[in-house]
Amino acid sequence: MTEEFNLYLEKMNAINMALNIMYFDRATGAPKGGVKSSSKFYGILSAESFGMSVSDEMAGFLKQLEKENQPGEIDKAVLRICRKDYESFRKIPVEEMREYKELEAGAQAIWEKAKEASDYSYFAPALEKLIEFKIRFADYRRGAKDRYDVYLSDYEEGMDQETLDAFFAQLKKTIVPLVKEIGKSGRRIDESFLSRPVPIQRQREISSLLIKRLGFDLNRGVLRESVHPFTCDIGQNDVRITTNYHENAFLSSFYSVLHEVGHALYEQNKIEEIADTILDKGASTGIHESQSRFYENIVGRSLEFWESIYDDAIAILGEDFKDVSAKALFEVSNIVKPSFIRIEADELTYSLHVMVRYEIEKLIMSGNYSINELPKEWNRKMEEYLGITPRNDAEGILQDVHWSGGSFGYFPSYAIGNAYSAQIFSCMKKDIPFYKKIRQGDIASIQNWLSEKIHRHGCLKTPEELIMNIAGEKLNASHYAKYLEDKFSAIYF
Ligand code: ZN
Repeated sequence: MTEEFNLYLEKMNAINMALNIMYFDRATGAPKGGVKSSSKFYGILSAESFGMSVSDEMAGFLKQLEKENQPGEIDKAVLRICRKDYESFRKIPVEEMREYKELEAGAQAIWEKAKEASDYSYFAPALEKLIEFKIRFADYRRGAKDRYDVYLSDYEEGMDQETLDAFFAQLKKTIVPLVKEIGKSGRRIDESFLSRPVPIQRQREISSLLIKRLGFDLNRGVLRESVHPFTCDIGQNDVRITTNYHENAFLSSFYSVLHEVGHALYEQNKIEEIADTILDKGASTGIHESQSRFYENIVGRSLEFWESIYDDAIAILGEDFKDVSAKALFEVSNIVKPSFIRIEADELTYSLHVMVRYEIEKLIMSGNYSINELPKEWNRKMEEYLGITPRNDAEGILQDVHWSGGSFGYFPSYAIGNAYSAQIFSCMKKDIPFYKKIRQGDIASIQNWLSEKIHRHGCLKTPEELIMNIAGEKLNASHYAKYLEDKFSAIYF
């Protein structure tokens, strides 16, 4: 690498870090009246960084450095990523990107307001404009590719609809009959205590307990509150997560914290050599979600985890929960019941929520959609996949933040992540007495295993290299199908 190129990348990276901080600020309490101004600045800075990634100067650097055949693993990965971005995005005019980014930055506040009022029509015009940009950008980029495949591949390299159609068909074959059988089983789990009020202050203490147990380093990280929980990585030394508290549903933030801490541990445990570089991030969103879903579900929704945390949790929850056992908490966390909100869905029906979004995104990217019909389409799909119809937009199409940020193609990452997590889990169990360690509260052994195999590499390795090294095979949904069958049969039959 040349010093000149390093400086060039550092400048790009600095702008990107500033943009991430602006995003975090917007979602966690920046004044609403400032949205218009900050969106404008966000657009300008985004265009600056984007322009650098597709400039003639970048092309020149790449041409020169690729010829020299870089010896180090880090240099090779830097060039691979810069080349990929350059080739993929270079046809998008910088000015159009600026316009789009300004729109995107303002759309989140519009979505928040629409969600609060449960009024899709308030969000629809912004959504339509975002989609128009996304379709146009895909057309600049796609060549012979299908539009939606361009975005699927942005999140998971090489992913396309053909692969996902088969993947979801396999999951559906396991999940749908299992949900039906559970419905017919007659086994009813007591959930009466779930809505007992837990003051927000106590829920914050529960969050602190979880953060401590899992080892999220608060010297290099922070937990705040936002409408939709998320993780914002500004590099391994500044990892910000959020949650959202509901007084009458304490498990909602409990599991969202476990989920986001899963993301955060990935971010914090990368090797130092890649700190503050363009490699200081995860391999893909699918691999990222595999880590968050691993902590949320495979760890957090196990009986052993509840046993290990029970005394401390009850001490915080107080007198009202003294009659609730660890087993009751475990079971209530695994109730299978079709519900409206994805982030609160049980582990079994969760992927059905993803399928609803996948089908709608396919429709949107085809261009043959009507913006005003999307809520009806959403509700029809919910009825088809989960057998329930949302009563309003807030519990239907407005529930997720993703589209307001232009993130089309992200949702499948959750299902891919679920599948990766089960595949990773089946390998981890060969090395570690998993449930014994969880019961002992020894999360460190699990975390070290994940760090060694996944976290430390950041995006030095591709998702396929990571999973091949761990499992000796590519993404394979059958491990997840088996995991779900085993787990829920044990609870329900
Ligand atoms: Zn996530």
